[in-house]
Amino acid sequence: MRDLQACVLSCMRELDALKIPYSKNVRFVVNNRAVSRLGLCRKAPNGFIIEIAAVLLDERTDERTGLRDTVIHELLHTCRGCMKHTGKWKEYAERVNLAYGYDIKRVSPRAGGPVPSELLPKPVYTVRCLSCGAVITRQKRSALITDTSRFRCAKCGGRLKVEG
Ligand SMILES: [Zn+2]
Ligand SMILES: [Zn+2]
Repeated sequence: MRDLQACVLSCMRELDALKIPYSKNVRFVVNNRAVSRLGLCRKAPNGFIIEIAAVLLDERTDERTGLRDTVIHELLHTCRGCMKHTGKWKEYAERVNLAYGYDIKRVSPRAGGPVPSELLPKPVYTVRCLSCGAVITRQKRSALITDTSRFRCAKCGGRLKVEG
């Protein structure tokens, strides 16, 4: 699990450097429920509450395009007049994108949808069947990867070879 608080502080330092006036009265909470959105910012009596989907703290997701992008996206909503993805919010998002190479969008493709595939762990190992060309991917260095000759293609029974 990633350290949400450490990430939040580091994102805040990036916004400080650009003099973006986000609110310091923000409480971050991790949302462990089924993910319908990755982040959510709402007004609270003394500031804001930002919910971050637990999946973003999973080490297998991409920290930059997942967690950091979402934290900054939501922090920008705490700026005055920035609850929508227009006007000042959009201006700040563009400033952050330019300065640090983020891809914070006015309308996030991930808002409201299931966790997008680009955030999910990427396969690291690829095994190809020498007969039919079927491809198998694995995240971990399992026996299939270290001892490939013991295995056969599930589709055609052909021999397998690790690629890359
Ligand atoms: Zn938003
Ligand atoms: Zn095959």
